Amino acid sequence: MSDTIEKIKCLIIGSGPAGYTAAIYAARANMKPVLYQGAQPGGQLTTTNEVENFPGYPDGITGPEMMMELQKQAERFETDVRDGWITKVDFSGDVHKVWVNDTKEIHCDTVIISTGASAKYLGLDSEQKYLKLGGGVSACAVCDGFFYRNQEVVIVGAGDSACEEAHYLSKLCKKVTMLVRRDEFRASKIMANRVKNTPNIEILFNTETDEVLGDGQVVTGVRVFNNQTKEKHEIPATGFFVAIGHKPNTDIFKDFLELDETGYIINVPGTSKTNVDGVFVSGDAADHVYRQAITAAGTGCMAALDAERYLAGKDATFEVSTSTYN
Ligand code: NDP
Repeated sequence: MSDTIEKIKCLIIGSGPAGYTAAIYAARANMKPVLYQGAQPGGQLTTTNEVENFPGYPDGITGPEMMMELQKQAERFETDVRDGWITKVDFSGDVHKVWVNDTKEIHCDTVIISTGASAKYLGLDSEQKYLKLGGGVSACAVCDGFFYRNQEVVIVGAGDSACEEAHYLSKLCKKVTMLVRRDEFRASKIMANRVKNTPNIEILFNTETDEVLGDGQVVTGVRVFNNQTKEKHEIPATGFFVAIGHKPNTDIFKDFLELDETGYIINVPGTSKTNVDGVFVSGDAADHVYRQAITAAGTGCMAALDAERYLAGKDATFEVSTSTYN
């Protein structure tokens, strides 16, 4: 444990669009935010090539570039952006305690959680290789589907997300092959039926991925196997989409915050408030439905405004800077 405990008004955990947007608003409201970037500075968007659906970028922007711009904007208003990983929290008292890298202790008046969620991947070497190369592996059809217009793609998964994404891709792509590892869907009947009734979606049941094939730069196909007959075959494809679920990065909060059964933080509807006063949530850590950069940014803004209002309620000398509130 460190000897000196730092005291701060507003701690932001996470550096995706939610965290940086919260930082921009909090800094402009004189909350002197400190933002810890976490293990993946820039968040999930840094694994996306081109972002074309964030308003204000008519020509698109790469995910990493966009995150650098957001960081610059937060720093322009003197957000203290730091490397480091919050490893432990204690939200049991009036002062919210957090520990950075298990050593440095910080006491915070407000905490904004923007730790996001991580897409699950199969873990195959070939999948990870083309994911890192930006060569045709994606966990977000809405983000990347556009790049595969009139092409053939493969998608893995059988839940509601996989069905929704397969259906989305079917409107853009020539053909979508869906790999379902059991002989039935996990998805709701209505979602599964929509996929089954879409002519350019082929569903292969009892089928798993053996290897993502490529030319060293980009994906060219997928070798699959039937887990009953063990037979293998290759499917030509330029895109390999993984839709096997997300894991919210909320483990360290579970002793203090209300989480749903999959680990998403439960917020008071229509706000960023959690069950602990002074602790707010934004972005994918609380959102398993929309999961978009723009919605994360929107809730980051909400969290900063809610935190500002909370501080003003506690400390008469702290003035609310916006006219957002009645
Ligand atoms: P789910 O956990 O519901 O589904 C994950 C799917 O991925 C399962 O079919 C699972 O297969 C499959 N899977 C997991 N690991 C592997 C693997 N290694 N190889 C192959 N397949 C694998 O996740 P979702 O993201 O689909 O949904 C999360 C929650 O969000 C759900 O509650 C869902 O209902 C909800 N949701 C609702 C939507 C809506 O209503 N519009 C849209 C999207 C999500 P198996 O079935 O064999 O376990």
